Order: sequence, then C-alpha cells, then structure tokens
Amino acid sequence: MTTNEILIAVIEDEAPIRCFLRASLGVEGFRVAEAATAKDGLRIITQQRPALVLLDLGLPDADGLQIIQEVRQWSAMPIIILSARGEEQSKIVALNAGADDYLTKPFGVGELLARIRVGLRHAARIGAHETDTTAFRFGHVRGDLAQRRVFVDDEEVRLTKIEFDLLALLVQHAGKVLTHRFLLKEVWGPHTVDESHYVRVFMANLRKKLERNPSRPEYLLTEQGVGYRLKTE
Ligand code: CA
Repeated sequence: MTTNEILIAVIEDEAPIRCFLRASLGVEGFRVAEAATAKDGLRIITQQRPALVLLDLGLPDADGLQIIQEVRQWSAMPIIILSARGEEQSKIVALNAGADDYLTKPFGVGELLARIRVGLRHAARIGAHETDTTAFRFGHVRGDLAQRRVFVDDEEVRLTKIEFDLLALLVQHAGKVLTHRFLLKEVWGPHTVDESHYVRVFMANLRKKLERNPSRPEYLLTEQGVGYRLKTE
C-alpha cells in the first residue's frame, strides 16, 4: 500500500494543530479526514474506517476517552492520543482504555511520522482491520457495534448507553461467561466492582427489550452466582 491510499483521521478541536497535521501528513502523501468534535470524529471513524486515528483528549462535546471506548468495542485500529502537558492522568486512563500510543504537544513532524509508522506497522502485523467486527446477530436480534444500533425482528430498538455497552461486551465475548466484576469494571469503571445489582437491573432491561420472554431468556443467560453469558446459536 502506498501512503496516498492510507487515510488518517485527525480529531482535534484546535485549528492550528489540525492545520499542522494536515500539512505534515499531506507532504508524506497520507490522506487526512478531519473532525473538530467527538461526534464528527466518530462518524469519520465508522464511515471511512481510517488506517489510524490521531485523537485529542479534550474535545468540546465529549472526552476523547469515550471515542476510544466506543471504537474498541469493534476495532483494534491504532489510536494515538494527542495530549497536552499536565494531562498525565488522563493519558494513562486513555492508554488503559485501549489507546496505542501518545504524543505530547507540542510535537515535531519527525516524531509524529515515526509514531504513525510504528502504529501502522503494528496494526498490519496484528491484522487490526481484518478483525473489525461490527455486525452481529443472535436469534431474532441483530445489530452493528460501530453504528450502535440494534434491531429486533428488523424493528430498531433504542438502548441506553449503558445497555448498549453491556450488550457490546456480551457480543464481543459471545459464548463466554462474563463475571459481575468484569462487567462492572468495563461498563461502570473500577470503583463499582461490588455493586453487582447494577448489572442485574440493566440486564433485566436488556432482556425486556431483546428477549421474546424476558423471564425465560434464550440468549442473555444468567450463570448463577457468577455472571452472564450470551448464547449465540
Ligand atoms: Ca482540545
């Protein structure tokens, strides 16, 4: 692949930094798709499937962290954070959430390109884009993790953010038992690991929306005393 076929998404609200990135990447022959908000950034990622994402953490409409979490539900595409000095903690949180690398502003072209090449090479080695799994189906339920949409018998069902995140985890680990602790940590964060009633309440809501008979679920199964499992066949 030559660089002019490689699309890089730049999600950054500061126009001068976007301009610098557009110029630096353009000279190297990369294609660039730009967004100044998290909402537009997610749209670019899901619709254009860039080879790599450069992501500012402080966006006007949402935390860049949210983008990482949503993208990691369906793709291992490389994400490099653009962080400001003094954002050490949010940088670590972002790396824990699945970002691959970071650049601390201000950074030079040489460093930028080196990190991008490492990211692209790593993505090629692990087959990051081949494993993108966005569409899913079980029984009468189907959906798309990237578009965050779910249909029951071809009728769209509205899920809350937490309901969707919970379902996405079950879909990603279909067939496996997921413990209460794991679900709490992934969906609500590390401080809630003892609140297993959260999971019960939201799982009940999911069953009401997705199962034919919520009290006798066919797919969203309870593993008594342990957690939950999505049965897909
Ligand atoms: Ca910013």
